[in-house]
Amino acid sequence: MPLTNVRPTAELQALDAAHHMHPFTDQSSLAKKGARIIVRGEGSWLTDSEGERILDGMSGLWCVNVGYGRERLVQAADRQMRELPYYNTFFQTTHIPAIDLAAKLAEICPGDLNHVFFAGSGSEANDTNLRMVRHYWALKGKPSKSWIISRKNGYHGSSVGSGSMGGMAGIHAQGGLPIPGIRHIDQPYWYLEGGDASPEDFGRARARQLETAIDEIGEDNVAAFIAEPIQGAGGVIIPPENYWPEIQRICDEREILLICDEVITGFGRTGHWFGHQAIGARPDIITIAKGLSSGYLPIGGSVVSDEVAEVIGSDEFNHGYTYSGHPVAAAVALENLAIIEEEKLVQRVHDDVGPYIREKWLSLVDHPLVGEATIVGLMGSIALTPHKPSRARFASEAGTVGYICREFSFGNNLIMRHVYDRMIIAPPLVITREEIDILIERVWKTLDQTHARLKDEGLLKAAS
Ligand SMILES: *Cc1c(COP(=O)(O)O)cnc(C)c1O
Repeated sequence: MPLTNVRPTAELQALDAAHHMHPFTDQSSLAKKGARIIVRGEGSWLTDSEGERILDGMSGLWCVNVGYGRERLVQAADRQMRELPYYNTFFQTTHIPAIDLAAKLAEICPGDLNHVFFAGSGSEANDTNLRMVRHYWALKGKPSKSWIISRKNGYHGSSVGSGSMGGMAGIHAQGGLPIPGIRHIDQPYWYLEGGDASPEDFGRARARQLETAIDEIGEDNVAAFIAEPIQGAGGVIIPPENYWPEIQRICDEREILLICDEVITGFGRTGHWFGHQAIGARPDIITIAKGLSSGYLPIGGSVVSDEVAEVIGSDEFNHGYTYSGHPVAAAVALENLAIIEEEKLVQRVHDDVGPYIREKWLSLVDHPLVGEATIVGLMGSIALTPHKPSRARFASEAGTVGYICREFSFGNNLIMRHVYDRMIIAPPLVITREEIDILIERVWKTLDQTHARLKDEGLLKAAS
């Protein structure tokens, strides 16, 4: 298909710099450099305005699970737009896409997660969760149970509520966050924070911080604990194996709700339908977005247990979004789930491409710059280090080296992201073995280039 956009790259970049405010971006330095303009997508590949083909190792922002260019999703949107482009679900009305999508989610979500409150994004869904768990306890006659416990370096979105529950220092530093009533415990990041402890001892200690926090705040004052089964934006941090069983034990023993934020880990990313199945947790609420529609249209939601739904349903919940359950987004999400089922993409990650990439990804630890390589399903990360045995950080400001590495990767037409000095990937679930070979080859090349640059610039020094 010919490109529809043949305007000169420089002209588009100038307009972009003049008028478009990018999320999580230093505008002035981007304006100097010029944003890369993506014009097309097909499968696991993107094309930019210069005609370069780029392998998308990040599925957009962890969302394009079924890959780009899916005609079925275009058709689903087209059909629904012609029939009913919009209607709300506030005032005793509903529509078929929202009904069918809620029922389908109840079918694929395990256990008694049978009820869906729709939102337009992951951030909105987590704002819903914040209000819903507090309202839940109020309805049960325990309005003091309002504190939320979450984790440092967790990510739950960037709205006021979700950004407060998240533990990103950069978000908290701007705009007066976090809001009161939220306690952040430490993350289960053994590689950088475990010191001399074994992963098991460290995992147990980090989980027990939840117990300590509940005791300090008082069980009668805590509403819920929220966490990603595997931290995504924090750097694809896979907790020690005993961490989640210990968290689950604490949640079982105490009267608090467990919210698993499945925005990244849902819909096949880990080789299971949901990440909490991979780690053996039993949440009362899960947050969904991203892979729910493979990013083709914005939609998110909260899937809640029978018990939570029953309590919330006993009164009017004064909450909702104009686009809750948007019919076109819901129709596209439903078709996306049909693709995932028909093409057996969850099993594909579990049995085929997951194990295939795993072996190659883990062998990256043989590179002199790589201190750790980890992967679950199709979400993986490597830690860059100047000194492997001590898992040392670089002497340069955190993120300096990761950024250099990211720039080389971009130059090699592979999209890999950096979180400080950790490199992360989360390719589409449809990535082929041949494409995985290309991805791994480009990662090695990128690491070699980064290594050479660090040597040249004297950056291969460990922090003291
Ligand atoms: C992306 C993300 C969110 C926020 O979703 P948005 O759609 O960007 O608002 C929430 N939680 C997790 C785990 C995410 O990765």
